[in-house]
Amino acid sequence: MASRKPIVAGNWKMNGSVELITTMAETLKNASNNNIDVLIFPPFPLLSKALEAGIVAGSQTVSHENAGAFTGEVDAKLVAELGCKYTLVGHSERRSIYGESNDDVAAKFEKAQQYNLIPILCVGESEEQREQGLTESVVSEQINAVINKLGVAALVNSVIAYEPVWAIGTGKTATPEQAQQVHKFIRDEIAALDVVVSQNIALLYGGSVNDQNSELLFAQADIDGGLIGGASLKPDAFVSICNSAQRNA
Ligand code: PEP
Repeated sequence: MASRKPIVAGNWKMNGSVELITTMAETLKNASNNNIDVLIFPPFPLLSKALEAGIVAGSQTVSHENAGAFTGEVDAKLVAELGCKYTLVGHSERRSIYGESNDDVAAKFEKAQQYNLIPILCVGESEEQREQGLTESVVSEQINAVINKLGVAALVNSVIAYEPVWAIGTGKTATPEQAQQVHKFIRDEIAALDVVVSQNIALLYGGSVNDQNSELLFAQADIDGGLIGGASLKPDAFVSICNSAQRNA
């Protein structure tokens, strides 16, 4: 029997402010999202403020190294010590702008779990890869980098976010059918290794989700919530998206 609680996670990227933390915390307090988990991934300097304001916050990445001489990096142990429970790993912007490979992402995934952070592993194909019919092989390779390094059991305390790169920040969202197709593929791939893990892992969709399209996306059988970029900077729109997840919980 599956036990998947929907998650709506806001990725603020390099945006936001102390003021937005306060407004978001107040808006979320007035919303009733009892049956879902609502998370915010603000920039590092805002993590403490977010946690103090009662937001369940996580980091947008962590280092694959332990604390040490790595200027500009942030280690998972410190993120966990602050009180965070989650971190994103392998967001497409980390992969494309900062050159993170599948192996780097798997190492970050491992480091996150070592310090009891739940990694949200972001995967997804580019437009070109989709046009070439490579969606499934790209996504599979991204997930298998983690499974091959750590075993399928490592997925127990993790979340996967399917985010087609062509849909991120473009306003061009995947249709509910396109998204469901890839989510089902991911769940089936995991099921081939471990049915229980596949039934229990939350699979989020990300890519231009807003308060107009979230309802139908979250109604899909294998979509357990969303990773939201732009719309997570607008508290009212973000709460509407959370309400869609709540209705589909
Ligand atoms: C993201 O950054 O993970 C994302 C999905 O962004 P957006 O919702 O703006 O497309």
